[in-house]
Amino acid sequence: MATATLVMIDRPTRGQIGGDGAPYRREDPLAPQLRVTDLAVTRGDGIFETAMVREGRILAEERHLRRLARSAAMLDLPEPDLEVYRDATRAAVAAFGAAAEGMAEGMVKYCLSRGDEELGTGPVGWAYAGPTPDFSAAREEGIAVVLLDRGLSTEVPETAPWLLAGVKTLAYAVNKAALREARRRGAQDVVFVSTDGLLLEGPTSTLIVRVGDALVTPRPQIGVLPGTTQEDVFAQAPAWGLRTEYRDVRESELLAADGAWLTSSTRLACPIRRVDGADLAVDVSLTSRMNALLTARTA
Ligand code: PLP
Repeated sequence: MATATLVMIDRPTRGQIGGDGAPYRREDPLAPQLRVTDLAVTRGDGIFETAMVREGRILAEERHLRRLARSAAMLDLPEPDLEVYRDATRAAVAAFGAAAEGMAEGMVKYCLSRGDEELGTGPVGWAYAGPTPDFSAAREEGIAVVLLDRGLSTEVPETAPWLLAGVKTLAYAVNKAALREARRRGAQDVVFVSTDGLLLEGPTSTLIVRVGDALVTPRPQIGVLPGTTQEDVFAQAPAWGLRTEYRDVRESELLAADGAWLTSSTRLACPIRRVDGADLAVDVSLTSRMNALLTARTA
């Protein structure tokens, strides 16, 4: 098993002062790095991105960086220095690639914490590169999902932006609790539903539904994270003779769909084969085309 690599980012945001040396440094991933008073630890007060790494390259690199900047703005965090993040993540990946010779896929997860509450330090960041689990069964055989109430209306991005719907914060305890509830109900994953009855996204993935010759995904404006993997699928859809639509999707449409998927950077496209115990059509050929496209990307 290849060893993960860690790069700590001492000056992750623009205009941060302190030290003339490099804004980041390689560290031992098994050694402690954060204090117990760091706000990422005590409040989940920070943001992150997880990107797929293939043949030493970070896929959808610029879009992940832009999404980090968007998340920072929505949490009133200082603006992340994207050049520093680009260099630091590449350094982590290069070190991991050297350690993981012959490994086709991996991931890099990078974070920005608001900093240490007691010490009053500015924001700190890190980039952690490592192997990914084997997702081939979920990609090929599909996943059973349950629909779970997210308890938020699709209006909240407008009416209550402090609820951070659709923002990639470090506070994923709710998402993890939803996945445990799915397991209790005999499923592997979740599609969240808004209080006004619209399907949203998975706890770590985007929902795509095929309705005839259209691929449909919920609009980011209703409080879902804009997915980089879904965007790559949508960019290719016209070449497959499919239209793309960002619009509302309800449970009835999912149950009658010609195919449905949860997509994300490391798991790629996992077909949904069951919803709340009801079988769903699995589009085997489109699934393999999606995953062939997604696994062939080098950018
Ligand atoms: N929605 C949520 C809530 C997520 O956490 C993620 C990824 O982790 C996604 C969607 C999928 O985004 P991407 O395809 O960019 O990985």
